[in-house]
Amino acid sequence: MNFTVGDELQKRLEGLRELGRTQIRPLGIEADRAGKPVPPDHPFYALLLKLGLGRTRWLGQAEDPVRRRTAAHQHESGDSAGSQPAGPSLTGVLLSEELAYWDRGVAVSFPGPGLGEPPVLSMGSPEQKERFLAPFREPDRPRWGSFAMTEPGAGSDVAAIRTSCRRDGDHWLLDGDKSFAANASRADWIVVWATVDPALGRAGHRAFVVERGSDGLGDFKIEKKMGLKAYESTSFTLRGCRVPAANLLGGEESYARKAGFKGALASFNATRPMIGAMAVGIGRAALDEAIAFAREHDRMGDVRVRDRLERTRRVLRVARLLCWRAAWLADQQRPNMVEASMAKAHAPAAALDAAVLGMELLGDVGARGDHLIEKLFRDVKAMDIVEGTGQIQRIVIARQLVGLPRE
Ligand SMILES: Cc1cc2nc3c(=O)[nH]c(=O)nc-3n(C[C@H](O)[C@H](O)[C@H](O)COP(=O)(O)OP(=O)(O)OC[C@H]3O[C@@H](n4cnc5c(N)ncnc54)[C@H](O)[C@@H]3O)c2cc1C
Repeated sequence: MNFTVGDELQKRLEGLRELGRTQIRPLGIEADRAGKPVPPDHPFYALLLKLGLGRTRWLGQAEDPVRRRTAAHQHESGDSAGSQPAGPSLTGVLLSEELAYWDRGVAVSFPGPGLGEPPVLSMGSPEQKERFLAPFREPDRPRWGSFAMTEPGAGSDVAAIRTSCRRDGDHWLLDGDKSFAANASRADWIVVWATVDPALGRAGHRAFVVERGSDGLGDFKIEKKMGLKAYESTSFTLRGCRVPAANLLGGEESYARKAGFKGALASFNATRPMIGAMAVGIGRAALDEAIAFAREHDRMGDVRVRDRLERTRRVLRVARLLCWRAAWLADQQRPNMVEASMAKAHAPAAALDAAVLGMELLGDVGARGDHLIEKLFRDVKAMDIVEGTGQIQRIVIARQLVGLPRE
């Protein structure tokens, strides 16, 4: 394994650190106090574009990162591929941790194709990548993409989605309700998962890029959340929503090869290490605040306090390494399902422990609700829920342990 951070990435990380200290954390605290997401016309987003952020990682047909890595892998031995500086997944994991350290809610509100990008990259045809991702290469304004799998009756069990799709000439008609989709009401398009027949389970799934303003797409409602208030998690409805056949990701033939389910899995295997890394970022922030509080209040002389701080740092380090390894495997185009699940199972729990330790050290100061650790304590909980809960990750790992096939 090689976790080399080249000079260019190091510079990007340092730039984010400065942006985090001066802009991201203050904005996150402001949104938390207001109880509302940062509005899409906030000048912060225009600033991000000026800084070259809020873009797609897709570099165009000639330099498709997925194809480029595959080609590199085919031409190099495992060892020589491993000596390259951080690939796109490891880079994403490192940047995610840094951003979440300052504020995970603001980080998710960043413009860009967001969670909609992995399925377009892994399932989309070259034309679809060009149509949907090219506007995010040099965006003229802040633009967002979104990803909508979850429904009021289908969370962990994605096979239970009920949003239906049926072909109607050169269109599809979508009907259903979606919930908790990040940045959905401000998105240019949303990757919506629907089914041709619920009885087929995952084999019936289709992924559509539903564009803003499509007939029958509406009723956007921002959900109430305990933390991560800086970005919107939004429910919406599809009522006879007309989507051009050209917006079915990968085209119909690819679903005969089970590309739909594989596409969803590929998306999760790419994003789970990133979610784990974000949890590590929140956990590190809580630990740093806890250390500062313990110092300020002369608690460092207590061996029990030192022991818990040491353990928390160690467990967070382990979590970070699990995330890095899962991302490194993805960059080598090697299977990483178990490693991605391990990272996602371990990191949010480690980060929650860090926030709990902070809250215990704060005592009544934490109960007042105006200390950063209290905010981090509310922010961190969702990290165990999104992209498959901790229980679901443990099921994935255990099935592999005893040699059961994937569900
Ligand atoms: C902040 C936030 C952001 C989100 N963003 C998005 C988004 O952008 N797009 C999107 O599509 N979705 C999003 N979601 C939804 C998220 O993916 C779901 O909440 C998640 O999949 C869990 O589903 P659920 O909430 O319905 O819980 P359920 O699936 O109902 O689970 C409830 C509890 O039961 C446990 N459980 C369920 N099944 C099993 C089992 N077989 N064995 C053991 N335990 C089990 C779970 O671990 C959990 O503890 C978001 C959610 C949150 C909180």
